[in-house]
Amino acid sequence: MLENYRSPWMTEDLEAFADSVRRFGREVLEPNELKWRQQHYVDRDVWIKAGDLGLILPDLPEQYGGAGGTVAHAAVVIRELGYVGNTGFGYGINYLVGHYLNNYGTPAQKQRWLPGMASGEIITSVAMTEPGAGSDLQGVRTSARQRADGKYVINGAKTFITNGQMSDMVVVVARTGEAGAKGISLMIVETGNPGFRRGKCLDKVGQDSADTSEMFFDDCVVDADAVLGGVPGQGFYQLMGQLPYERAMIAVGAAAQMERALALTADYVKERRAFGQALLDFQNTRFVLADVKATVTASRAFADVIIDRWIDGTLDSAMASMGKFWLTERQGEVIDKCVQFFGGFGYMLEYPIARMYADARVQRIYGGANEIQRELVARSL
Ligand SMILES: Cc1cc2nc3c(=O)[nH]c(=O)nc-3n(C[C@H](O)[C@H](O)[C@H](O)COP(=O)(O)OP(=O)(O)OC[C@H]3O[C@@H](n4cnc5c(N)ncnc54)[C@H](O)[C@@H]3O)c2cc1C
Repeated sequence: MLENYRSPWMTEDLEAFADSVRRFGREVLEPNELKWRQQHYVDRDVWIKAGDLGLILPDLPEQYGGAGGTVAHAAVVIRELGYVGNTGFGYGINYLVGHYLNNYGTPAQKQRWLPGMASGEIITSVAMTEPGAGSDLQGVRTSARQRADGKYVINGAKTFITNGQMSDMVVVVARTGEAGAKGISLMIVETGNPGFRRGKCLDKVGQDSADTSEMFFDDCVVDADAVLGGVPGQGFYQLMGQLPYERAMIAVGAAAQMERALALTADYVKERRAFGQALLDFQNTRFVLADVKATVTASRAFADVIIDRWIDGTLDSAMASMGKFWLTERQGEVIDKCVQFFGGFGYMLEYPIARMYADARVQRIYGGANEIQRELVARSL
């Protein structure tokens, strides 16, 4: 979206893929945004359309229904859907769960879930957070106790779960053993299981088209092979292995949303007039937007470093966390400055910039609060 700037990792092939993702964003997501915000979920057929374009699991092997591309394809999807302001279509969770399965799942688990997730027929969630434990993941109280017949019985409550109303399968963080990291496992739970219950779809400050929800597990019985990877006690390590990618996704999305905010604002200040001149002719507008453009350009470059390392396999936890906290904080500042130029219209949800403002706040909270990200970065000093 920034003019005269091409990401170093971009290729002709990826440009063509970006075009098709952009079309999907403009033709399928943008026109339905307000409807979805009102109903608090995104229609299921959108998942199928996205699956047909290969944008849900773009970098997973074709053997499992993936599109056989690379991480660069995944980065293109995040960026292009950021450019249309998407915060409701939760394809990113299928992407994350797809990687949990691909990296740690047994062959049977991959075969069972990945093809449907790639095609958009299966929607997934990741349920880590509980009413009493968010940042401190080792404090989860949801339990999965193994019975004599080998099956597990899950009990507990989760909250703030993205795709919560729509998901067909949930990866649940549960305690299967001793206190501490070694007692945690990731359990694969089908939402048709009689012990599973969805709670409220939560009323949020922004991101209204996302069906963020509560979930309850009441004597929810699953087979022994519901443990991701088949061996209990690996959950915390599996989470630690994949969370950097979730943070990278948030960081790359933040940079794209900033580019969109600048583009919308630049258009507006050229059109809107006050005191006989365009808003852009006021020196304040020019200087503030010059600062914004510098921040947006630096943010894009930072996002590109993260993507580069993600592509070549050298993205570490500190770099992902740095990107997550720094870019989401710049996103908040940039959008706040942009809103000001829209005057009262900037506070009206009818205007995309107002929705972007409301949507941006949570970027500093979810995916691990920014304070936690700073802790992780500080450990690398
Ligand atoms: C819209 C939305 C979608 C979400 N989607 C999901 C999802 O799909 N799956 C899921 O499992 N969770 C999800 N979450 C939950 C999210 O990841 C948590 O809210 C987040 O990790 C923070 O946990 P918490 O809310 O329990 O806050 P707490 O852990 O209570 O922390 C509150 C605040 O305390 C401070 N704090 C905490 N620990 C430290 C520390 N060590 N050092 C310094 N300060 C600290 C931070 O400022 C933090 O923001 C979602 C949340 C929202 C709002």
